[in-house]
Amino acid sequence: MADEQGFDLDYAPAPESTGIVELADEYGLYIGGEFVEARSGRTFDTISPSTEERLATVSEAGAEDVDRAVAAARTAFEDHWRDTPGTVRARYLYRIARQLQERSREFAVLETMDGGKPIRESRDVDLPLVAAHFFHHAGWADKLEYAFPNRRVAPHGVAGQVIPWNFPMLMAAWKLAPALACGNTVVLKPAETTPLTALLLAEVLNDVGLPPGVVNVVTGAGETGAALVEHPGVDKLAFTGSTEVGKRIQRSAAVRRLPLTLELGGKAANVVFEDAALDQAVEGVVQGIWFNQGHVCCAGSRLLVQESIAGDFVERLHARMARLRVGDPLDKNTDVGAINSAEHLARITALVESGVEEGAVLHQSACDLPDRGFWFAPTVFTEVQQSHRIAREEVFGPVLAVQTFRTPEEAVEKANNTPYGLSAGIWTEKGSKVHWMAERLRAGVVWANTFNRFDPASPFGGYKESGFGREGGLTGLGAYVRDAGGVSR
Ligand code: NAD
Ligand code: MN
Repeated sequence: MADEQGFDLDYAPAPESTGIVELADEYGLYIGGEFVEARSGRTFDTISPSTEERLATVSEAGAEDVDRAVAAARTAFEDHWRDTPGTVRARYLYRIARQLQERSREFAVLETMDGGKPIRESRDVDLPLVAAHFFHHAGWADKLEYAFPNRRVAPHGVAGQVIPWNFPMLMAAWKLAPALACGNTVVLKPAETTPLTALLLAEVLNDVGLPPGVVNVVTGAGETGAALVEHPGVDKLAFTGSTEVGKRIQRSAAVRRLPLTLELGGKAANVVFEDAALDQAVEGVVQGIWFNQGHVCCAGSRLLVQESIAGDFVERLHARMARLRVGDPLDKNTDVGAINSAEHLARITALVESGVEEGAVLHQSACDLPDRGFWFAPTVFTEVQQSHRIAREEVFGPVLAVQTFRTPEEAVEKANNTPYGLSAGIWTEKGSKVHWMAERLRAGVVWANTFNRFDPASPFGGYKESGFGREGGLTGLGAYVRDAGGVSR
C-alpha cells in the first residue's frame, strides 16, 4: 500500500504471540465450583474465525445440565451468598478485577483467537473495560444503602444471563459484576462461537476463591440458552443478542412476571454537520463502523451528513477507508479483523447484495483478504434510500449506509426513523446544537464529537426494539435488586 506521495505504508507483520494462552483440548461446564462433563454427552467445537482452525471442544449443556447449574446457584444463594456481607462480596469483586488486570494479555489473546476481533481492540478496549467494570461494582457492593437511599433492597436470587459473541468478556462483566455486587448468584451462558474466555474467567473465579455455585457457566447454543431462560428456578433474566430472540424471551418472562433486561440490536446514526471538525468526524465514523468489523450493537452503521459537505466528506471517508488494514486479528496493526462465523458472513453478504439490487451505490476498499477464514472488506453505500434494507436493517458488519440532510430537523427525523434506538453520534462545533439534537434523538446513548466510548458509571441501553433496561451506572445496578419492603434509614 502506498500513500498519495508514494510512501510505502506497508508494515512488517507484528503478530501477538499465542504462547501465553494454554488451551485445553476439551472443556467441561463450570457448575458448583467444578469443571464437569455434560450429562447430555454432547460437545461442539469452537474455531478461530480467522484461520478456521479448531481451538477446542466444548461441552454442550442439555436441560439436565442447566438444571444442575440452576440448582447449584440456588443452593449457594440460600446457603450463604445472600447473607454474605457487602464488604466480603466487594473483596471477591476486587480480587476478580485484579486477576483480570494481571492476566489481561492472556484474556485479550484468547478473545481474539476465538472471536476474530483485532488484538488492539481486545487488549486496549475490552479487557481494560472489563476490569474497570469489576472495580466499579466492587465499590458498590458494601454501599448499596447509599446506592438506593430510602429503600430496603434485596437481591433477586438466581440470575440467568445469556450473552452474545461480539464482546464476550465485556458482556460477561456487564452482567456478572452488578449481579454479584447485589448478592445474586448466576448461571451464565456465553455464545457458542466464543465460549473460551468465559471458561477462562471461571478459572479465575475459582482461583480467587469465589464460593462454589455463586457463578456457573454453561456452554452451548440456542437450545441451551432457551433451557436456561425457561428454567422455573431463575429469578431474573438478562439477555444481549438479536431482537428476534430477545422478543421471544420477553414473551416468556412476561408470562412469568420475571424481571428482565434486554439489550438488542441497533441502527445508530452518526450525524455530521457542516461546521464539524471534519477529519475528527471521519475518524469517529470510521471507528464507529469498521473497527471490530461492525460487530457492535451500537455501531454507527448510518452516516447522516449535511448536504453542503457530503461530497467532500465521503471523499475523505473513502481515502481513510483505503488505508484500513484488514486481516490477521492477532497482528497489532490490524484495524479490521475476521467476521465471527461463516453464518454471519453469509448474512452480511446477503444484505450487501440487497443494497446493490435495490440501487444503492457500493464502494469497497480494495484490500487483499486472507485465503482462509471469514472476511468482509470495509464497505460504504451512497445513494441510499430510506426504503432500502441496508438503511433499515441491522447488518452487524463493516457496512456503512450514507444519507444526507439539509436541516437539523431533517437530521432528527431521519436519525429517528428506525425501529431501533440504541445510540447516536453528533458532530458539530456548536454546543447548543449538540443539546438541541440530543434532546430529540430517540437513542439510549448519544455521543457528541466522539463515538463508542464506555464507562462503568454510565448507563447503557436502548429505546424501542433495541431493548429496555440499562447496564452500568446506578440504573444498571438497580436491575439486580428488588424492594424488600420497609425503609432502611
Ligand atoms: P442470537 O440472539 O441468536 O444469540 C445471542 C445469544 O443468545 C447466544 O448466546 C445464543 O446462543 C443465545 N440464544 C439463541 N437462541 C436462543 C433462545 N431461543 N433462547 C435463549 N438464548 C438463545 O444472535 P446471533 O444469531 O448470534 O446473531 C444474530 C444477530 O443478532 C446479529 O446479526 C446481530 O444483528 C444481532 N446481535 C446483536 C448483538 C448485540 O450486542 N446487541 C450481539 C450479537 C448479535
Ligand atoms: Mn470461536
